[in-house]
Amino acid sequence: MDEIPEEFRFAASPEEDPLPEAPRMSTAVIFIVVLILAVAFASFAASIGAPWFFIIFAFVAPFLWVANILIRRGAEEDRRAEAQRAADEERERLKEEVAQSVKETMKGTIKVRCRYCGGLNGEHDEKCESCGAPL
Ligand SMILES: [Zn+2]
Repeated sequence: MDEIPEEFRFAASPEEDPLPEAPRMSTAVIFIVVLILAVAFASFAASIGAPWFFIIFAFVAPFLWVANILIRRGAEEDRRAEAQRAADEERERLKEEVAQSVKETMKGTIKVRCRYCGGLNGEHDEKCESCGAPL
């Protein structure tokens, strides 16, 4: 494969660079932690004699917080998947392009060696350019 021009070699074998996976906690663990937080917040609010709506807010707040985090994480994963897909597509496109230009390059460079004088001739020549022998 010496015919592949230098500038295409890198593109022909792009290095694998998968996007790193974000660390994730199991949903059950998150839920239990949030529930404990919610109960703790609510009972603290109740113990200091906060009004009922504040107790409810203290109970609901951790759930809202986690919901927010989960939604953001989902969006982040979508973004990663999209980036990965775009990278794969670009890689395919590059491969196609390289294959095409290698084909183009080789079409013009295939030479036939004359068996009498050793001179190089075009693929479709019928007679040797140097000695005139039939190819
Ligand atoms: Zn010849």
